[in-house]
Amino acid sequence: MITHNADIVIVGSGITAALMAASLAEKTTKSILVVEAGKPTTPFADRVKARERWRAYGESPWKQDHLDDQNATGTTWGFSPSMNVGGLAMHWGGVSPRYSPEDFALRSMYGVGSDWPFNYDDLDPFYQEAEERMGVAGEQGPVALDPRGKPYPLPPLPINYNLAQLQQWATKAGIVTWSTPSAKNSVAQDGRGQCQRCDTCYPVCPTGAKYSPDFTWDALVARKRITLVTETLVRKLEADPKTGRITRATGNRTNASGEEVTIEGGTFVLAAGFVWSPHLLLLSKSSAFPDGLANRSGLVGKYLAGHRNVNAYLRLPMELFPGINVQHSLVSKQFMRVPRSARYLRHDLRIWESSVGREPRLRDDDGRVQFGDDLMKDWQQRAKGATARVRGYYDVLPDKESALALDAKKVNRFGDPMPNVSFKDAPESAALKEWQEEQLRDLFRTMAKAGGGEILRMENSANDLGQEHPVGGCRMGTDPTQSVVDAHGRAHDHENLWVAGAPAQPTASCCNGTLTFVAVGLRTAAAIAGAAAV
Ligand SMILES: Cc1cc2nc3c(=O)[nH]c(=O)nc-3n(C[C@H](O)[C@H](O)[C@H](O)COP(=O)(O)OP(=O)(O)OC[C@H]3O[C@@H](n4cnc5c(N)ncnc54)[C@H](O)[C@@H]3O)c2cc1C
Ligand code: SF4
Repeated sequence: MITHNADIVIVGSGITAALMAASLAEKTTKSILVVEAGKPTTPFADRVKARERWRAYGESPWKQDHLDDQNATGTTWGFSPSMNVGGLAMHWGGVSPRYSPEDFALRSMYGVGSDWPFNYDDLDPFYQEAEERMGVAGEQGPVALDPRGKPYPLPPLPINYNLAQLQQWATKAGIVTWSTPSAKNSVAQDGRGQCQRCDTCYPVCPTGAKYSPDFTWDALVARKRITLVTETLVRKLEADPKTGRITRATGNRTNASGEEVTIEGGTFVLAAGFVWSPHLLLLSKSSAFPDGLANRSGLVGKYLAGHRNVNAYLRLPMELFPGINVQHSLVSKQFMRVPRSARYLRHDLRIWESSVGREPRLRDDDGRVQFGDDLMKDWQQRAKGATARVRGYYDVLPDKESALALDAKKVNRFGDPMPNVSFKDAPESAALKEWQEEQLRDLFRTMAKAGGGEILRMENSANDLGQEHPVGGCRMGTDPTQSVVDAHGRAHDHENLWVAGAPAQPTASCCNGTLTFVAVGLRTAAAIAGAAAV
């Protein structure tokens, strides 16, 4: 039996955990122990090589990034089983927009979904902290649409020639756009290089320009400010039946030894991400807490949310040079701020250059195989002109039955039931879906027309039941009968248990969510540091 002990125990080592640990390490003098089920994966020094092998052979740059038997069943699209030091953000693209102020008050403003227990202005300082800790490069948008207390930490990634052309076209269509904020160094800093526009942000950034959590873990471990325990799966939290205080976490090594592990602590923070945080609470049932921990409301695992998209490729009468930096884009938030109407649709809008329809090809229009100069000439001809990709993420309002439950038919090596995930739209969301997607298609047709172009292809989310940037399962609120954690992430039922980031969110907005997961986690970290319990 292995035993650990710390003042603050953090379960999970993803991006939310990393930046919370950095914040707690500065705000307190307490000992911090981080427990991660997976192994460390490809170190920074090996990433150039990993990228080369990925390009040459399609080999995954991320070795040892999952546990074979730790997986979800049901609707797993939008969910990734990535379990390693750094979590999913070892793979992410780094796109880091903020939610809009409306996202925090959907019920009050639009009569749908739920209000959050705090507003955008409350989160603004934590957005800033998240952006500064990661290093987000961004351009201030129109202040009304893009309110910020302080400027972006880094200058924006450049709007290159292609994006500048596309920006002019969007302006003709009446759409204000700016450089999409990204956790990528526009200026070298903290031992991480400057973005070289080499365009492989995912799967792997060879220069370290894109932030990933391992940078933070390496720095905290080097300063001896935290203890990072890897290959250790927390399988249960135990609570005192009388006081409800969490007394210890128990689990096992995930290496060949499978040894039992006990972790004692003063404060426990669940930062195990969407899926695994509510899963662990459900697994932690006992005679005193027969429905699992933090579950007096019966809402652990419920109200899963996320967003879906409509995507279009447009041919435009302008000349672009394909491949300048396809992973950078323009963003507009003007459709996230809409007047209240009988029907609800808010969405973000992103614009990329694209090479769809302009790729090199081996056969010409008549099916003849082309070689040498002919092949090159054909490509040069076809590469003239421009294709743009546009996409709108729209939010999906969660139903209570959009839920995660334990699936007794699928167990891991220790016999723990794995999670079964099923998304369900709230009735108002289900009723609007067709209309919402048609509105987006209409917008894209109008945009194409404004630029004298045409639509090549339109598509919607690959799987209607899965959702991107999923959240929920431990929703926050002020009413303990309607929520799992309070407005700062502390479990209503257990004074020394906190749930951080994505699982605590009541709704998911309609843009990439990780920056908000981290900001919400940092707000929780500040509350933990200030709490008498620590
Ligand atoms: C290809 C790709 C591209 C993406 N691009 C973007 C993007 O551009 N912008 C954006 O906003 N988002 C993006 N995302 C999503 C983003 O990566 C995730 O939202 C984010 O990383 C989630 O972080 P997290 O801290 O909430 O949880 P996770 O990353 O899920 O971390 C949780 C960690 O906890 C560990 N853990 C879980 N349970 C236990 C347990 N019981 N015991 C011990 N450890 C445990 C897990 O192993 C894991 O390491 C992308 C994702 C992918 C896959
Ligand atoms: S473009 Fe290249 S250097 Fe820049 S963030 Fe992406 S992978 Fe890293």
